[in-house]
Amino acid sequence: MPRPRRHRHIRSSFDYDYWRPCATCLEDRGEVVLKMEEMESIRLKDHLGMDQRKAADLMKVSQPTFHRILSEARRKIGYALVCGKAIRIHGGTYEMGMTQARKFQCYECQHVWEVSYGTGRPENCPNCGSMNIHRAEDDRGYARNGGGRHDMQ
Ligand SMILES: [Zn+2]
Repeated sequence: MPRPRRHRHIRSSFDYDYWRPCATCLEDRGEVVLKMEEMESIRLKDHLGMDQRKAADLMKVSQPTFHRILSEARRKIGYALVCGKAIRIHGGTYEMGMTQARKFQCYECQHVWEVSYGTGRPENCPNCGSMNIHRAEDDRGYARNGGGRHDMQ
């Protein structure tokens, strides 16, 4: 009987979800699907240079599991590069690590963005530069427990 798969924790969504070789004259050579947790393993280990133990901790998986996820990610990326496949980043077994980021919204332009914990409160909207910003409504559990607290009016 297969064990249920534990959800892997990943930071958030990525800026890209599709990679394609820039050779539009070539026929479509197909794609490989890179799971979200595989992308996250690459981000932590290869992009940030984090050691495997810390990366596994962050994703809430064992080191062997992390290693397996990372190996699979590298195998797929290698295959895509060598064979000219597009890479779709999609799906997998994961939970967004929403506790690691706070959401803010701008009153002026309604722009919503995330800020990691430990980096302090942002001063301005990164979109329009306004200082008229507040914690976003759907950022549960923290900002809204203030007992009638009101943000700058
Ligand atoms: Zn703004």
